[in-house]
Amino acid sequence: MRYLILSDIHANLGALDAVLAAAHGLWDQAVCLGDIAGYGPDANEAVERVRSLSAIAIRGNHDKASSGVTNAEDFNPLARAAALWTRDRLLLENREYLARLPQGPMDLEDFAIAHGAPRDEDEYVFTPEVAWEMLREAGMPVTFIGHTHLQGGFALRGGAVHALHLRPVAGKSCVKLHIESDAAYLLNPGSVGQPRDGDARAAFAIADLAAARVVDFWRVEYPVAAVQERMRKEGLPEPLIARLAAGR
Ligand code: ZN
Repeated sequence: MRYLILSDIHANLGALDAVLAAAHGLWDQAVCLGDIAGYGPDANEAVERVRSLSAIAIRGNHDKASSGVTNAEDFNPLARAAALWTRDRLLLENREYLARLPQGPMDLEDFAIAHGAPRDEDEYVFTPEVAWEMLREAGMPVTFIGHTHLQGGFALRGGAVHALHLRPVAGKSCVKLHIESDAAYLLNPGSVGQPRDGDARAAFAIADLAAARVVDFWRVEYPVAAVQERMRKEGLPEPLIARLAAGR
C-alpha cells in the first residue's frame, strides 16, 4: 500500500490542489496528520477536499480550535484571530467533521501517526533529545508526525538519534529515504499549506513501507500570490499572508 501523507494543510486550497496534482496516481490511501483548518482562507474547501479523499485523519490543535473543541486561549494572537475567523465561516457539517476527528496517536497497518508527539498531540518535536524519548517508547518502526511544519525527521539506530535532512533542494521535487530494518523513525512530511523551513513550496510525503520500504519527501510549487490575494481580500492578518512567500 502506498500512502499519501499530508499534514498542516491550514486551509490553503491552492497548495493542497498542487500537492494532489503532483501526487496523482502515486498513492492508494491518503492520511492526514491534522491541522486541515486555520490560518488560510479556504477552510471549508480544504475540509471537503480531505473528506473527498476518504483520508484517514487525526485532529490537530487548529482543528480543535476552529471547531470549538478548544477555545484557542493558548494560541498566539494571530493564530487565535485566524481560528476564530475560521470558526465563524465553517459550514456546520465541516465543523462537525473537524470536531469528530480522532485524537492521535493512531496505529495504521505499516506505521503510526500523531499530530505533535505520540505522547501529547499538542507537543512539538524539534530536537533529537525529544525525538529520542519518543523513539525509545515507539511501538512501530515508523511514526509520522506534523505540527512543527518542518519537513524531515529523526532516526534511532544503535541507541543514538540523528536528525535526517530530507528536504528536496531548489529545482528538485523529491528526496528518497530508504527505511532500514534496524532503525526506528520519526518522520515529518512537512506542511502542505504553511511551510516554516524556509522553502515556500508545499510539502508532503508518499510512503511505501510494506513493499519498497521507501518514503519520498516532496516539495511542489503552488500559486502563492493567488492564495495571499485571497487572504488579503478576507482581511486575514498580514503576517500570516507574508509568511507564505517566505516559507517561515
Ligand atoms: Zn499546524
